[in-house]
Amino acid sequence: MTLIKPQAGVGPNSRLVYFASASWRRLFLAAVFILWTSLAGAGVAAATVPIGVFAWQGERAAETDWSPVLDYLNAALPQHSFRLDHYDAEGLRRAIAEHRVGLVITNPGYYVTMEAEFGLSRIATLASAGVSSPARAIGSVVFTRADRSEPAELRALRGKTVAAVAPDAFGGYLIAALELKHQGLDTGSDLAAVRFVGLPMTRVVDAVRRGDVDAGIVRTCLLEQLVERGALRSEDYRVLSPRQEPGLACATSTPLYPDWPIAVTRQTDPALAKAVVRALLEMPEGEGRLSWTVPADYRPVHDVYQELRVGPYAGLDAVTPEALVRRFWPWLLGVFALLAAWVIHTVRVEYQVHRRTRELREALQARKEAETRVRQNQEQMDHLSRLSVLGELSGNLAHEINQPLTSMGTYARSLLRRQSRGTLTAEALTEACTEIANESERAGGIVQRIRHFARKRPAVREPSDVVAIAAEARRLLLGMLAHAPEITIEDRSRGRCRVLADGQQIQQVLLNLVKNAIDASRALPPERQDVRIVIEPADTRMLVHVIDRGAGLEEAQRARLFEPFFTTKPDGLGLGLPICKTIVEAHGGRLWAGPNADGPGMRFSFSLPCHASSA
Ligand code: ADP
Repeated sequence: MTLIKPQAGVGPNSRLVYFASASWRRLFLAAVFILWTSLAGAGVAAATVPIGVFAWQGERAAETDWSPVLDYLNAALPQHSFRLDHYDAEGLRRAIAEHRVGLVITNPGYYVTMEAEFGLSRIATLASAGVSSPARAIGSVVFTRADRSEPAELRALRGKTVAAVAPDAFGGYLIAALELKHQGLDTGSDLAAVRFVGLPMTRVVDAVRRGDVDAGIVRTCLLEQLVERGALRSEDYRVLSPRQEPGLACATSTPLYPDWPIAVTRQTDPALAKAVVRALLEMPEGEGRLSWTVPADYRPVHDVYQELRVGPYAGLDAVTPEALVRRFWPWLLGVFALLAAWVIHTVRVEYQVHRRTRELREALQARKEAETRVRQNQEQMDHLSRLSVLGELSGNLAHEINQPLTSMGTYARSLLRRQSRGTLTAEALTEACTEIANESERAGGIVQRIRHFARKRPAVREPSDVVAIAAEARRLLLGMLAHAPEITIEDRSRGRCRVLADGQQIQQVLLNLVKNAIDASRALPPERQDVRIVIEPADTRMLVHVIDRGAGLEEAQRARLFEPFFTTKPDGLGLGLPICKTIVEAHGGRLWAGPNADGPGMRFSFSLPCHASSA
């Protein structure tokens, strides 16, 4: 402590006060130090270490069993105050979960369960007296009353009632359950019932003794301990399928598993754990006949749980729909939502496809009907148009037919005259009859053609020769017109292609065009009234030109040529050219008109596509 110098001008009284106050301060600090150390000492003494113990035989037995360990630890580690807290299985689990214990002593079964759940860590394994190896210390004993002949062995437990402590008791149930499983018996389905009577385990012995059950399951050495305490007589019970396990003084019905461990929790101070381990390993085997050794391998205990699918391994087989739903519900919800969206989408698309298909079908049907109507109208129109052409030509028809009839009459009368005169020779008869036959054929041919042309029939499309069609049209015209001008056909096609056409309709087009050409040439002297039909190929088409040397047309008139009802004739209808245009275009061709390039007159041309197979 720094001494504070008395200041100048300060009197003796002041100095006295100063020293007095310094002594008091020292006294006060000393008192604080003593109080602090005593409180700290009290704190050390109060640092209790609770040891959680699984009291499988009840609290009193646990107290008796473990007090030697408690006393030893308290003596060996005086800086700690160890305390025993007894629990049943669930109580111990809760105490560990709530960090109320620093050390845990429990059976191997609960140890592995809580190792998995809370990270419990074994630091030593019990080395019980009378057990040669701590790794092989605990098993199950299945026993019955000695006065019963049945069941004789483990296998004979089928259909019998068995008592045990609890479904999760290790030595008191699970080891035996696994052994029964190895023997082909499922405790759930092959036994009549398993009655779980709860702790302490002596209740199982009581149930067997009373005859409530056919057999009981307890952990090894319990029966021997009861006999030793005088609570049971060895001649009163019989162990089923007893096996001799080396190093174990007690009877067992099953293989053996590691002894009880002492374990620390995740919260236990490592220094304390180390001190406890060191002390326990040095613990002499005294009156309590307990000592501790290095931690055993508890893998076999895990195997029991794993094979029985209980404890930490309970979930392995429990793939129930409920468990799956609980675990994966967000995913399932997502999948369900996707599925629902997909279903809605599919139904919507299906509906739309259905609706559109129906609309399309209806539209197609309507179009088909419209096409049928158009075709029928077209056919009607064609027919009327043909009749109209015939009508226009028929003025001369009587004259044309009359000619052969007159000839025939003349020849017939001449024959009669000669016969009456007696000058009829065989040659004259032959000549006259031949002429009559020719004239008759000529008249018949004209009528035949007119009838063929005028008949009503559906349109057809077939590969046709345009030159032949033109020749037929020419014949028809010449047969019907009294003073027909020269009609020539110039075939420049060299048989290049046939067209896919309705021959009669194309003939109708030609008749119209040629008749218009003849009409336009009427004012000319007879020697200039020639009409030419020129047929020539052009790429994949055939061109047909109808050329006259007539009056021709002004450009303004030419522009209106194909308008319906355009006519310059007093008796004309103005429908011939529009119908021709419709027919040609229906064949995939084109109809146009222009002045004759070689002089006066007009040239009407139309094209028709070649038939694919003959192009
Ligand atoms: P219509 O013969 O009943 O008049 P078209 O449609 O066949 O009906 O002809 C329409 C008009 O086109 C005719 O009135 C005529 O004036 C004109 N025309 C047609 N072909 C020729 C032609 N080769 N030369 C001059 N004019 C023509």
